[in-house]
Amino acid sequence: MTGHQENPGSGFTLSGSPAREAQLADVARALGIEMVRTVDPFNLSEVREAIEAAMSNPGPSVIIARGPCALLKRLQVKRPAYAVDQETCRKCRACLRAACPALYVEDGNVQIDADVCLGCGVCSQVCQFDSIRPIRAAEDGEM
Ligand code: SF4
Ligand code: SF4
Repeated sequence: MTGHQENPGSGFTLSGSPAREAQLADVARALGIEMVRTVDPFNLSEVREAIEAAMSNPGPSVIIARGPCALLKRLQVKRPAYAVDQETCRKCRACLRAACPALYVEDGNVQIDADVCLGCGVCSQVCQFDSIRPIRAAEDGEM
């Protein structure tokens, strides 16, 4: 849903009352889909493995990405923001593939806007040089 409206899978009616939550995996299986996987969209290796399995499956597949939308006010998804360690950063810009609006480039350095970062950790998983870590780790002197 792109307009944040409630839907049969959200567990709420359009007026905001709690409702029975439709299980999308069950719906897919009822339609005859044999390969149905539910993944955590913030776990990139899990998502990649599911996509590869679906691509090699000769029949139709369904992958359900189940995780909190950062834009929904009733969900509290804010975690400690992340920061780029400029000492170890190789300037490869691979993390920009995360396409997160908190990431930006300034004077050739990738930076993270801590006010926009929700702490999901996806860009950190993309970085091959362990240069993106939670700010709390930096404050503890671990960066
Ligand atoms: S992926 Fe890592 S090393 Fe590359 S620019 Fe981003 S933070 Fe720096
Ligand atoms: S941790 Fe998540 S929200 Fe924060 S900059 Fe990285 S991808 Fe964006």
